Amino acid sequence: MKAHDGMYLDGAWRPAVGKDTIAVVNPVDEQVIAEVPAGTAEDVDAAVRAARAALPGWAATAPAGRAARIAALRDALAAREDEIAGTVTAELGAPPPFARAVHTGMPIVVAGSYAELAASHPFEERVGNSTVYAEPVGVVGAITPWNYPLHQIVAKVAPALAAGCTVVLKPAEDTPLTAQLFAEAVHAAGVPAGVFNLVTGLGPVAGQALAEHEGVDLVSFTGSTAVGSRIGAVAGAAVKRVALELGGKSANVILESADLARAVAVGVANVMGNSGQTCSAWTRMLVHTSRYDEAVALAAEAAAKYADRIGPLVSARQRDRVRGYIERGIAEGARLVAGGPGAPREHGYFVSPTVLADVTPEMTVAQEEIFGPVLSILRYEDEEDALRIANGTVYGLAGAVWAGDEAEAVAFARRMETGQVDINGGRFNPLAPFGGYKRSGVGRELGAHGLAEYLQTKSLQF
Ligand code: NAP
Ligand code: MG
Repeated sequence: MKAHDGMYLDGAWRPAVGKDTIAVVNPVDEQVIAEVPAGTAEDVDAAVRAARAALPGWAATAPAGRAARIAALRDALAAREDEIAGTVTAELGAPPPFARAVHTGMPIVVAGSYAELAASHPFEERVGNSTVYAEPVGVVGAITPWNYPLHQIVAKVAPALAAGCTVVLKPAEDTPLTAQLFAEAVHAAGVPAGVFNLVTGLGPVAGQALAEHEGVDLVSFTGSTAVGSRIGAVAGAAVKRVALELGGKSANVILESADLARAVAVGVANVMGNSGQTCSAWTRMLVHTSRYDEAVALAAEAAAKYADRIGPLVSARQRDRVRGYIERGIAEGARLVAGGPGAPREHGYFVSPTVLADVTPEMTVAQEEIFGPVLSILRYEDEEDALRIANGTVYGLAGAVWAGDEAEAVAFARRMETGQVDINGGRFNPLAPFGGYKRSGVGRELGAHGLAEYLQTKSLQF
């Protein structure tokens, strides 16, 4: 595939300082499809300088002017939908319909939402004898993962630009080609030079240099809790703003009065989508003891149907990690009712859609984020028990509640320690704040709450 051999820096593709490269691998057939430069601390420094130099001009651009450029960015992405979807399929392995509808369609909607929010947001308000201005935080260092390559970038860059911030992006090493396409779209949209800059590279090199750079005012990170907590510590020591979107172990709580067949079908689909590589996936299904066996049978049957259409995991490392979790679940006493740790195909990083039953709350597969197509089904005795189990992990990113009566589901959801809950299969809302309670993170993305992350306030008294 076509790839740039430089960094997008100060409005142009420029040669990287070092000669090292990163091979991009297609997870379906394990072939190298492209190489991109591995950025160094010097590349990051050049990018941060470009972003700093561009900051005063972009911050002073009227919100309507910023909105126009973000609208043009949305249009530039939409004009290249096929190419973006094909690139996500090539470097992540996402099946084409999913790459198109979710990996490409969703970020275009989110970019559009920030074109509107940039134009409509009240950047100035009157509070008693004060005028309060919402001003950009400054230079943003954005570090993104591979699981939703374009969405994770747009969910940071679009609100940052709407706020008047400038950005340096370090995308995941596994999916840099989508990031390069995004940079091309930014360029085509006429965003001024230096407002957005891209440095491809490795996390512990380029990512770390970006998080530590004193010219960065806010670090926005999405990825593992291990790396996120380190970035939070570095940012804290430097008194920098930080936003962390980390892992999850979300509960799908099926109350006794629920439509069981529907709750299980949607629940299994939620876990298998994107091969389970979704931070908000409902990886723990909680079922009342009276309907437990029925739910397990339905889930096993539903999971088996994904065997032929599920994509691979992103890398051999992730595949091995996920298989290790399945083995560990079985070793700790879970009952395998679909899939398993074996290799379903000769080539590619595939893992079978897997369902583990008789999972108890203290098992590893009930506590740790697996990040693969693995569903754990737990049994509860009554609602208090269900709540204890639902809230019984270090995470709190998302979840679901199903009940015959909506009010009953809402009452339960209000007691869950988590950032989002879908009621009886409620649809994804690209304007609703997304982010974690507890160790799932700090801060919110999407909509007006996502924009607020990139703003700071100044009060003038009269
Ligand atoms: P990760 O290492 O946390 O990667 C996320 C981003 O941080 C990537 O751009 C990565 O670069 C970068 N990074 C890595 N080490 C860094 C450092 N020391 N300083 C600054 N940046 C650094 O996650 P992963 O290894 O790709 O995946 C591991 C696990 O994380 C998954 O199994 C899953 O549980 C979790 N995860 C969660 C999400 C989510 O949406 N919450 C997304 C992805 C992964 P490289 O690409 O070069 O590593
Ligand atoms: Mg990594």
